[in-house]
Amino acid sequence: MATHLSKSKYLSGLQCEKRLWLEINDPDKASDTTESQQRLFDQGKEVGILARSRFGEGYLINTDRLKIYECVKETRDAIARGESIIFEATFFYDNTFVMADIIRKNDDDSWDIIEVKSAAHLKDEYIADLAAQRYVLEGSGLEIKRTLIMYINRECVHPDLSNLFVIEDVTDKVDNMIGKVSGNVNKFNNVIMLKNEPEILIGPQCNDPYACPFIEYCWQGIGNRTVFGIPRLDNDRKLELRDRGIILLEQLPNDYPLTQNQCKYIEWVLNGKIEIDYKGIRKKLSKLEYPIHFLDFETDSSAIPRLNGTRPFEKIPFQYSCHVMQENGEIEHFEYLHSDLTDPRLPLVESLINCIKESGSIIVYYAPFERDVLTSLARAFSGHAPQLNSIAERLWDQLDIFKRHYKHPDFGNSNSLKSVLPVLIPELSYEDLAVKEGNQAQSVWNLMIRTEGKEEKNQMIQDLKDYCKMDTLAMVEIHNLLKKLN
Ligand code: SF4
Repeated sequence: MATHLSKSKYLSGLQCEKRLWLEINDPDKASDTTESQQRLFDQGKEVGILARSRFGEGYLINTDRLKIYECVKETRDAIARGESIIFEATFFYDNTFVMADIIRKNDDDSWDIIEVKSAAHLKDEYIADLAAQRYVLEGSGLEIKRTLIMYINRECVHPDLSNLFVIEDVTDKVDNMIGKVSGNVNKFNNVIMLKNEPEILIGPQCNDPYACPFIEYCWQGIGNRTVFGIPRLDNDRKLELRDRGIILLEQLPNDYPLTQNQCKYIEWVLNGKIEIDYKGIRKKLSKLEYPIHFLDFETDSSAIPRLNGTRPFEKIPFQYSCHVMQENGEIEHFEYLHSDLTDPRLPLVESLINCIKESGSIIVYYAPFERDVLTSLARAFSGHAPQLNSIAERLWDQLDIFKRHYKHPDFGNSNSLKSVLPVLIPELSYEDLAVKEGNQAQSVWNLMIRTEGKEEKNQMIQDLKDYCKMDTLAMVEIHNLLKKLN
């Protein structure tokens, strides 16, 4: 059992002291890392390597990361022999290890710390991260002049990656936070030595700033009848309720000030009240024209763009599924899945415009996503822009029904297809599928296009097709159910 802190454990402690204690003392209670989380880690590593290449001949601490005392020694030796740029520089002070992505020596012998993030925006938690690094590096005898964040520039366009990174000086922000680090380190060192896990109630911290890996453990048996699901209740008020021990909606005092909509939400959940606006649903359905298409895209997005003309984090569609329903009830299914490393967009566009008829509505679930994909495809392939824009103009959002006209307490506080489907059509389920959600589809696709083994590749292709087809089939079945409502 580790009895020291690290930079990531320090950040866990800031999020929740129970998380910190569990990570060190009972890590088996954490949920397994998902494929999509693994992909994010892998992407982070790739970005880190590319970022280093922007600093020329730096020295990389090579020792196995698990042998941290040896990493510290290698770093100390590198500094002593005059290295001026060090990657993965490792330090230990006040029972805390940190590994800095990049440190760079200035002419006056002071140092800058550069933290690399595979994100397109600055976030508060990055400042806390840099403050912890500065505390340990200064404690180890380095004079720190500046603290900088190197992150992704969304304006960069492949193949010119020369402006992929922006570097922002956040020294002032870190200055404002540095005073708190020593007290936190002291407190967290005491937390990890506790015999039993600290008694901390679940709360908004479970998903802020990161989804905690112990949610399954801490939230078991609680379900979605909590005050944290109340729409538009800000985090401070959620925390205040949590601190008063008010977790479940049943515990909320009658006179607690809430808006009309928030009261309505609580009433649905507590009374199990289903609300259906039949007139509103009929009106929306009456706008549909046959043939009705049910369309869904799966997309990839990466911090480092790899296709010509694309930007960081741009959504690149690699798959679609489309069910087409005629007025007589006949249904046909069409699909496309790109299966190699080449650009998936043009073949997907060609297949799509063959499948979608020149007239008829196109039902999607959360139209802004599909509209965004279609309009960027139209920009990239102007020869097909008229057809793609026509598809975008005919989108009809099934999600609107569940936002405005159909409320069910068992949807919880989500209207997503994955929340609505098991309540309305329980016989149709994602549970038996190998791919169960969009982020996982993205990870499996990235794995599949790089896989050589035929059998393994074919299995992944099938899993992806089954998943995307389920999304559009779910919309078909929900549509059939809505039509029967009177
Ligand atoms: S799930 Fe919530 S309460 Fe449990 S350890 Fe994580 S952040 Fe803390």
